[in-house]
Amino acid sequence: MQLAGIPCPLCSQKILLESDGTWCARCETVMHRDCLTAAGNVCPRCAGAYDAPEGHFVYSKRCPECFRLNDPPRARCAGCEAGTRWDSPDAYAAFRKHMKRTSIRSALLGLLEIAIGASCLLSPVFLPPVGMVIFFLLVFPAGAGLYVAMKMLIEGFGNLVRSWQCSGFE
Ligand SMILES: [Zn+2]
Ligand SMILES: [Zn+2]
Ligand SMILES: [Zn+2]
Repeated sequence: MQLAGIPCPLCSQKILLESDGTWCARCETVMHRDCLTAAGNVCPRCAGAYDAPEGHFVYSKRCPECFRLNDPPRARCAGCEAGTRWDSPDAYAAFRKHMKRTSIRSALLGLLEIAIGASCLLSPVFLPPVGMVIFFLLVFPAGAGLYVAMKMLIEGFGNLVRSWQCSGFE
């Protein structure tokens, strides 16, 4: 959760540093750690014992960006600093859904790129009349036909790998 800039209800001052703030997991009220301690760990909104968010944190097993193992669990990936901590199981579940959708999109894009790349390379060989038309209308005017086709193939396989990594994210 973004804490900096949010006014603390206990002292009415804005929170300046993320590390100075915390929030109540029950009502999501953001406040200063020090103010909360001074208030005897009672949430001003719930008027009851403050529910520390740390008890609800969920850490992913892998980084969602570079897929490096997040072990031992850290809030940020040791390799690329991407966030590997979610504030609640719900937030984590929503993110996993997003990764599944990314996986499907990458797979479709990858297959499309491979199909285009392969047909550019192979069409003149296997389908002389149609292939020649495709080759000279689409590939040749682009300048370096071979370069474009290879780029499509490489990107396509890259997207398939990414799709596979995203589908395994947890
Ligand atoms: Zn305060
Ligand atoms: Zn509360
Ligand atoms: Zn990473």
